[in-house]
Amino acid sequence: MRLRWVLTLVGAKEHIPYDRLLLSKDYLSGSLDEADLALWPVQEYGNRDIELSLGVPAVRLAAAERRLILGDGRQLRYDRLIIATGGQPTQPALKHPAVLSLRDLRDAARLRKALAQCPRLVIIGGGFVGCELAAAATANGTAVTMVEAARSPLGQVLGPEVGGASLPCTVPTVSTSGPESLPARWRMGQTER
Ligand SMILES: Cc1cc2nc3c(=O)[nH]c(=O)nc-3n(C[C@H](O)[C@H](O)[C@H](O)COP(=O)(O)OP(=O)(O)OC[C@H]3O[C@@H](n4cnc5c(N)ncnc54)[C@H](O)[C@@H]3O)c2cc1C
Repeated sequence: MRLRWVLTLVGAKEHIPYDRLLLSKDYLSGSLDEADLALWPVQEYGNRDIELSLGVPAVRLAAAERRLILGDGRQLRYDRLIIATGGQPTQPALKHPAVLSLRDLRDAARLRKALAQCPRLVIIGGGFVGCELAAAATANGTAVTMVEAARSPLGQVLGPEVGGASLPCTVPTVSTSGPESLPARWRMGQTER
């Protein structure tokens, strides 16, 4: 006889699971909206016997008793537990309304709104997300300066040779003819203090 598993998906945020990969691409550029990002329609979880527990974080584990404790005091018993809580961006120690990061849908919504009225943007970090953000912002007419600790954008992930290949076509020739034609500028080998 096959065992029937009851699967509960616990998420700290209130959104149903969505495609995070689109945040820095189609969502930021405005070609997709929040409703387009869901991985499955909500009823599909029911169809597959997956219970959703959203909007409350898991805060404690009573591993010996196989219990997971949620932020509102609820306790979930389990036979197996998978911890898949992802990562956090390395964040400079700055708290200011003009300082944003891009990790989840809420961040992306804030950024999308900010980009609509932002003539000048500085991005710390020239990895994939930083570069995608730069592309969305420049397409929007925003002038971008990127600060990257490595010697080239994408240098950490692709190495200096491939990463460096993107430099010649993006090094600034600062234009005075209006924000639409301002290119992204790179500041390499620097890091924030
Ligand atoms: C803007 C952006 C664009 C990206 N683009 C790409 C791309 O094009 N290609 C690519 O390969 N990768 C991309 N990535 C990286 C990719 O999204 C991550 O590698 C992937 O999301 C990691 O999946 P994960 O399930 O491990 O973590 P996550 O997607 O971070 O999921 C972890 C979940 O756990 C929840 N959580 C955390 N703590 C708790 C808690 N205590 N209780 C309950 N829930 C909790 C979080 O709210 C989150 O929903 C991108 C990332 C970002 C931010």
